[in-house]
Amino acid sequence: MISHATALEELRAAQARVRKLWMPPPDITIEEWARAKRVLPSQSGRPGQWKADPIQREIQESCCDPKVREVVFMKATRLGWSEICNNTLGWGIDVHAMSMLMLQPSRDTAEDYCKERLEQMIESTPALAGIVRMATSKASGSTTRNKRFSNGGSFFVASAGNPRELRSKRARFVIQDEADGYKNDVSDEGDPDKIVRRRLDEFFDGRLLIGSTPGMPQGISRIEKAYNRSSQGIYLCPCPHCNALEPFRWRHPDKPDLFLLRYEKDRDNQVIPESVHYTCIRCGAAIEERWKFSMMDAGHWLHRRPAVTAVKGYHANGLYAVFPGHWAKMAQEWVDAQGDQLELKAFINLHLAETFTEPGESVDPGFLRTRAAQDDRPRAVVPEGVALLLVQVDVQTAGLGRLEAQVVGFTSDERAYLVDFQVFPGDPQQDQVYEDLDAWLLHGWLHQNGARMTPHLVLIDARDGNCKDSIYRFCAPRADRWIFPQMGVETLSSKGWAEESGARKMSQRMFLSATDDCKRVVMSRLNLEANAPKSIHLPAWVSDEYLDQLAAEKRVAVTDVKTRKTTYRWVRTRNRNEAIDLWAYAYAGWWIITRILAPELSGPEGRQQLEQLAALASSASERVTPGEAPGRRIRSRGIFE
Ligand SMILES: [Zn+2]
Repeated sequence: MISHATALEELRAAQARVRKLWMPPPDITIEEWARAKRVLPSQSGRPGQWKADPIQREIQESCCDPKVREVVFMKATRLGWSEICNNTLGWGIDVHAMSMLMLQPSRDTAEDYCKERLEQMIESTPALAGIVRMATSKASGSTTRNKRFSNGGSFFVASAGNPRELRSKRARFVIQDEADGYKNDVSDEGDPDKIVRRRLDEFFDGRLLIGSTPGMPQGISRIEKAYNRSSQGIYLCPCPHCNALEPFRWRHPDKPDLFLLRYEKDRDNQVIPESVHYTCIRCGAAIEERWKFSMMDAGHWLHRRPAVTAVKGYHANGLYAVFPGHWAKMAQEWVDAQGDQLELKAFINLHLAETFTEPGESVDPGFLRTRAAQDDRPRAVVPEGVALLLVQVDVQTAGLGRLEAQVVGFTSDERAYLVDFQVFPGDPQQDQVYEDLDAWLLHGWLHQNGARMTPHLVLIDARDGNCKDSIYRFCAPRADRWIFPQMGVETLSSKGWAEESGARKMSQRMFLSATDDCKRVVMSRLNLEANAPKSIHLPAWVSDEYLDQLAAEKRVAVTDVKTRKTTYRWVRTRNRNEAIDLWAYAYAGWWIITRILAPELSGPEGRQQLEQLAALASSASERVTPGEAPGRRIRSRGIFE
């Protein structure tokens, strides 16, 4: 027989067990967890019990603040970002049994991260080492990149370059490490940032941490874009002399040639460590590095956009690193980098946590305006000499949606004339807006000598996946009028500006254009003298907005510091850039018609044929009825009947 006392004890124990199951996880911050559970291994920069540096405190707090959805740290190296990640990871697994995901730029960097940091961190943290499932059996155990824990938590380190890997994992907490190293995908569908954000939206309390040193130019850098969207925190420290609260800066904000870290050099161009000091921007007094920690300890983050509370952003340069002698080290690296673009870029990225933009190709909007003002052609009239009329359509889903279309006339020597430009408001996922476009196309354009011309080729931008169906529905029955979908891509399988895509949807032809090459053609030709062969002619009636859009992109070189390999990217300098996209499609169209659809139009003989076409269009007696596309004549019966 069980005694009353024993039964009561068992009941209490059972109740406690149930309570434990239902109790919310203990309310403990990342810092409290890390102080209690983390001992940094001897190999780490600062071995022993964890204690956050002054600038790390608030960042870590934000990582576990339920009101914060996103934490952005645009940082120099050696500011302890990895440890913030490690602590967040340990806290998430140990306290909340979360599913967590980390992105590294590539599979190699993901594996290095696991071997060099993750394994070490788990081993040196008993709370995690005790619950990690060993790699005993494939079904339940952990692998190098996929750690599973017996409390239900999991941590996966994915390669940002592999969209399939990113789509396969559900995670409530995502860490984007070295985000500036992720490839930029031209199609949104493959962009790692967009994929993880979509997956995070499945959780009401999903959270994102983005940390990186900048590596890309302004306008492309993911970390800079993320920081610009954030609360934009900077760290202020009181001056030991005048008590003014200021951030540590490399340069004076108003005088870029005035550096605030001062030092003397010996005859071998070596920085003399004892001479290195920082200058207070307010009182001008010298601040030695040994005072730095206590200054930072008395400092705090100031958010320049305090109204943004869900996205906390932090920026800190290398002057905040707490390693002894770091200022002298930075001074020496700065001295050594002078005269070498790549080393300078590395210094600016890694120590100043700023973007670095190499000189680029662009066009001046003022120049375009002056040029356009001299060309007083009326709108919608085809000038003398035009042989081919090409239409480009850009599809925009923003707001209520619209199509932007333009008509470009090409002469036999590749001079290009903007003939007309039209915006069709309407949802591009519905058919109506395309019907409006078609009426415009069928109406055609009058040649200055009286003949009516309909377009030889119409290209519709089909890169937005949501609009593909409606675009194909429109193009398919109009293929014999040479109305086709087209898409800009990074590289083609053949040489040239455009090619036909091997993949067919609804058994329809579709074309790919080389975005970079086509935009470069536009850029170089915009800079040609008026009336020179291949020059671009913009009429006086175009709006300033249109001209600004044409100058909205800049081609910049991006050199990888490690491999010294240079690639080129287009950086937007303004918000809207439809006009430059349209002109890029115009050159894709020129290539498609003269190389693919009617190759008889290329080469010296092709030029003669184009001249004859221009003469035909200019003879007022030759009238083309609307609906009968000259393009059809080129294909089926040759250019001349
Ligand atoms: Zn001062």
